[in-house]
Amino acid sequence: MTSSSTAPAAVGPPDLQDTATAFAHQSDADLRRAYWLFRVIGNPTVSALGKILSELALFLHLPVKGLIKSTIFRQFCGGETIAESLHKAEELRRSGIGTILDHSVEGQDEEDELDATVVEVLRTIQVARERGDIPFCVFKTTGISRTDLLELVSSGNARTPAEEEEWSRVEARMEKLCASATEARVPLLIDAEESWLQPAIDALVERMMERFNREHAWIFHTIQLYRHDRSAYLHMLHDRASREGFHIGMKLVRGAYMEKERERATEKGYPSPIHADKAAVDRDYDAAIAFCVANRARISVMAGTHNEKSSLLLARLLDENGIARNDPRTWFAQLLGMSDHISYNLAAAGYRVAKYVPYGPVREVLPYLIRRAAENTSVAGQTGRELGLIGQERLRRAAR
Ligand SMILES: Cc1cc2nc3c(=O)[nH]c(=O)nc-3n(C[C@H](O)[C@H](O)[C@H](O)COP(=O)(O)OP(=O)(O)OC[C@H]3O[C@@H](n4cnc5c(N)ncnc54)[C@H](O)[C@@H]3O)c2cc1C
Repeated sequence: MTSSSTAPAAVGPPDLQDTATAFAHQSDADLRRAYWLFRVIGNPTVSALGKILSELALFLHLPVKGLIKSTIFRQFCGGETIAESLHKAEELRRSGIGTILDHSVEGQDEEDELDATVVEVLRTIQVARERGDIPFCVFKTTGISRTDLLELVSSGNARTPAEEEEWSRVEARMEKLCASATEARVPLLIDAEESWLQPAIDALVERMMERFNREHAWIFHTIQLYRHDRSAYLHMLHDRASREGFHIGMKLVRGAYMEKERERATEKGYPSPIHADKAAVDRDYDAAIAFCVANRARISVMAGTHNEKSSLLLARLLDENGIARNDPRTWFAQLLGMSDHISYNLAAAGYRVAKYVPYGPVREVLPYLIRRAAENTSVAGQTGRELGLIGQERLRRAAR
């Protein structure tokens, strides 16, 4: 990866269907394994059964760690530790793709666990500072705050003195991470979460951007365009940043908690914050991409998506506006083990691409793995697309 922006070497739109480029880093055996895995998790019955059995087996301390590690963990995670994951970073680097080390341990609510998350994210910042292939670090605010506290602060309800103190510790953790990333000159992504936790996260991240993004977007917020209020939020934030003179780092995602959001809204009797249909989400997502490119003087953007159309839209907007493909303000990002055809083809065409590389002890990343399996079972077309592309590449290789 280069750090300066120069004129693009390649011409013509990127071809995301080029499976030779997409899978060049995978051996025939790797492809066979990936094909088998996507078939297994694509089957709702097998996937549901696998979820129950793996949770049970780990709970009972049955020796299934090796099996999980050599199958689904190997597909979607970099390793159990940062050191293990650096092999994956090295592999991605060879294809011009950056690594975002994502400590995927969830559900931590005790103070010592929250402090431990800070220590771990600081380690990733340190590693990123020392290497050239980790363009961003990342964390979730639920990793540094008790979830119920985030909900309370988001609700605007009164807090006890003890809760005030607890919240000031969360603010201090956030500040420590943002200050450290800025000092190391490593951009830091802050993931978006459920809408009932997000007001507190928004306020914190806005404050961090205002403070640390004076000259450059070091701190990246995330908006979920499945929410119908987020386009207006993006515009409002841009107005404010323009007035107050700070830069915006913005990761655009569609959003990961649709079912949970809708269920809670129904259960509690408030209007769902989620768009009524996918078409509206796609429209807002693509409009947000266009808005960020048009306002690139103030906004650095990361398109966190596996959607081909949205990825191609961003690529086209860069080319049409005469923006270098490796402009440091514009990034594409996918999750490890998914949509390699987007990541590898865009990187080969000269765009800036990074992959989230989740890591952590097998037992602790299991919830993440189960979500990936569920997503590949439930998101219409996702598994079919992965299988189709891998199948196509296997046929191409067989015909050589
Ligand atoms: C690098 C990266 C970082 C991410 N970070 C976050 C994060 O911080 N927070 C977060 O919440 N998620 C995050 N995600 C996940 C993301 O929000 C999506 O769940 C996932 O990427 C699928 O959306 P898509 O754009 O890739 O693909 P698509 O397949 O085009 O879109 C699927 C998404 O569309 C939406 N959708 C589908 N059907 C409907 C419907 N009927 N009505 C309304 N909406 C619908 C849902 O959001 C669904 O996930 C991240 C993803 C990536 C790749």
